[in-house]
Amino acid sequence: MKVFHATAPKQGAFIEVDTPKPAADQILVKICYCGVCGTDYDLFSGESSFVKTGKATYPIRLGHEWSGIVAEVGDAVTKVKPGNRVVGDNYVSCGKCAACQAGDYNNCTGRMHVGTIDPCWNGAFAEYFLMPERHVYKLADNISLKEAALCEPLSVAYGGTKKMNIRPDSIVAVIGTGPIGLSAVALAVREGAQVYVLGRNDKKLQIALKMGASGIINVQKCDPVACLKEKTGGRLADYILECCGNEQVLNEVIRIAAQKAVAALIGFYNNAPKEVDFSTVVEKEMTLIGIMGEYGNLEAVSKLMAEKDMKLSEMITAERPFDECGEALSVEDRSGVVKTIIKISEEPAL
Ligand SMILES: [Zn+2]
Ligand SMILES: [Zn+2]
Repeated sequence: MKVFHATAPKQGAFIEVDTPKPAADQILVKICYCGVCGTDYDLFSGESSFVKTGKATYPIRLGHEWSGIVAEVGDAVTKVKPGNRVVGDNYVSCGKCAACQAGDYNNCTGRMHVGTIDPCWNGAFAEYFLMPERHVYKLADNISLKEAALCEPLSVAYGGTKKMNIRPDSIVAVIGTGPIGLSAVALAVREGAQVYVLGRNDKKLQIALKMGASGIINVQKCDPVACLKEKTGGRLADYILECCGNEQVLNEVIRIAAQKAVAALIGFYNNAPKEVDFSTVVEKEMTLIGIMGEYGNLEAVSKLMAEKDMKLSEMITAERPFDECGEALSVEDRSGVVKTIIKISEEPAL
């Protein structure tokens, strides 16, 4: 089978390797689509902090936002069968440690990371991909495999929204218009809330409107507090999803927060935030929660996608064939890119 791997900063190659055989508890998936994540761009360019600190080492078979068809299953697999359409987690637990034995895969001591840092599980920019049954989920028939490749970023945003009590009378602010920010928009819109999106890129803000946001605020053109109050009749945000990871945004989160607001911090901070206005956090009695991926979120969001169209495909700004994987990862000006999807093989008709 053909696989693409990053061999050094800004260098990649296609190689031919043997198609793996699934062990008893494993599933072999024929990959149809795989999204390109911000992490993939950074690992490919070598600019990722993980490369600099030696946590990620070349060669890396990238790709963790995949969807595909079960091609073959191990003898002990019962959950899926060949032909089923599936997605899977972005990490692989060891299956042996005390936490795994208790089914608590989040706390596995031997976790491997799909297509990213060491210990690295071979990623999905490949014709076929192996995964243990416990990390693979069957999709409902009404979700296309292309849209299913968006499950992973959606599951990250869901880590934040599931810890909030978003209701139709809530004001929700989302900061950031990347795939996770726009996923957060979709999830908050789904709850019927008024959702306002703060960003700097007009093209991406327009996508938020197409996905059902009530309003957009370009923070380079207006003051976010004044603008939010104008749009909401004087209200500030009850729930805030910070999905951009710029350390300077933290004080904006605090400024746009209503009394007793809950804010989920989903972006990684490459630089430590300084001079955070914690006295206002206290005065407003805010709750700040940090969000990482969690076992179970991927399966939960695949079910949400099946229940209602969340217009997630608006986020797909480019689709490229597998042969152009290296070019897709090398794009430097990503001002118009939300999500690029690599098509690895044709999705069979149901
Ligand atoms: Zn990702
Ligand atoms: Zn384990």
